[in-house]
Amino acid sequence: MNAKSYVDNFMNELVTKNPGEPEFHQAVREVVESVADYILESPQLMKMKVMERIVEPERVIMFRVPWVNDAGEVVINKGYRVQMNSAIGPYKGGVRFHASVNLSILKFLAFEQTFKNSLTTLPMGGGKGGSNFDPKGKSEMEIMRFCQSFITELYRHIGPDTDVPAGDIGVGGREVAYMFGQYKRLSNEFTGTFTGKGISFGGSLMRPEATGYGACYFGEAMLATRGDSYKGKKVCISGSGNVAQFAAKKATELGATVMTMSDSNGYIYDPDGISPEKLQYIFQLKNVLRGRIREYANKYPTAKYVADARPWGEKCDIAMPCATQNELNGAEADMLLKNGCKCVVEGANMPTTPDAIAKFQAAKILYSPGKASNAGGVATSGLEMSQNSMRLGWSAEEVDQRLRGIMSNIHSACVKYGTEPDGYINYVKGANISGFMKVADAMLAQGIV
Ligand code: NDP
Repeated sequence: MNAKSYVDNFMNELVTKNPGEPEFHQAVREVVESVADYILESPQLMKMKVMERIVEPERVIMFRVPWVNDAGEVVINKGYRVQMNSAIGPYKGGVRFHASVNLSILKFLAFEQTFKNSLTTLPMGGGKGGSNFDPKGKSEMEIMRFCQSFITELYRHIGPDTDVPAGDIGVGGREVAYMFGQYKRLSNEFTGTFTGKGISFGGSLMRPEATGYGACYFGEAMLATRGDSYKGKKVCISGSGNVAQFAAKKATELGATVMTMSDSNGYIYDPDGISPEKLQYIFQLKNVLRGRIREYANKYPTAKYVADARPWGEKCDIAMPCATQNELNGAEADMLLKNGCKCVVEGANMPTTPDAIAKFQAAKILYSPGKASNAGGVATSGLEMSQNSMRLGWSAEEVDQRLRGIMSNIHSACVKYGTEPDGYINYVKGANISGFMKVADAMLAQGIV
């Protein structure tokens, strides 16, 4: 069998067994294409059906989340936790609250998480959870009641050595704190069952910064392979949440100028660049006032706001998609390439569609998949777990130092396993092979489980 027929057969079976899950199919195809040759060369991996087992979640928990809104009405949401793979450590991965959440999206995220966590070299398995609850426009008390109801069911399935959730879209420090509070109350234990906690109750310094900073450290390492850096570059960022904010901060510190940020309603473009002072306003707008990105253009009138659009038509050297999945398509890849973009660093999970990835790779520009370049977040969550187990806290400098080291190691692994015969670094292949190998070895060693 050659690699193409292996991938075709595998995907046919996967789609038949998991109908109506397009995001999950997309994520699996990317990994299977990368590792097909490696699997075909290993009779043991074939015989023990390691890939077939990896795509089947070890457990999926689906539950009702009933709560009462401020108007006194009963509202029912869906709750999920996908416990994907525990071969190398307890399930680990964020919780997403967004109206679009469904099983396909959570399975794709949990699947990606398994390889990402392996890449960090820390002992963490893969998981992901969430709800179709939409936090936008909800009061503080509604958010708290929802989080409490969500955890009232989920608490029996998680624990410091079982499954350690964290934040994701729609879940930041506030929501993690409410979930942790309810978990502690129900379990009657103060343990490191969540990461992304507040500093006063076991959180790690640098965890909020880690994903965005880590993506920029990874981007610096990519650019260095071509004797280049962020210095003097124009950067287009999508999103204006946790990852986007700290990617913008670090890119600016590294000497770049950030031109755009966005939310689900549109994007802002600032011809003068988003200075540190203007970025401080975005932090306030998004994290405290919980406002919309269009308000930036009211405060800074030289900036434009473009409604119902994404920023990829603007000229930049580096693109950092930091919002959500499939937010950069083939037509937008063409625009970026035409405008001279040399480097695409994913902060979000699977933000680039497969046809757009193919265009970047055909043009031989630098392109990194999120499972490599956004792994700094979960890596720092792993560091938070270590600090909780030791019952101590490291300084921000120490955590940042470790984060830099981990991102540098992930980059080296991508180079080792992804360098093509012509010298082009295929970061997708590198990340997938490197992440897969460790999980596959552990699964082989542990028998058919
Ligand atoms: P946040 O909720 O803090 O921010 C998400 C941002 O993306 C917001 O600006 C939001 O806009 C925008 N967005 C969300 N959904 C859409 C959509 N359908 N279309 C356009 N814009 C959208 O989330 P994070 O910053 O934490 O997460 C962003 C991405 O990074 C996700 O893919 C997440 O899985 C990934 N990630 C996050 C990590 C973390 O540590 N937080 C770690 C690794 C990956 P709006 O306000 O309008 O919803």
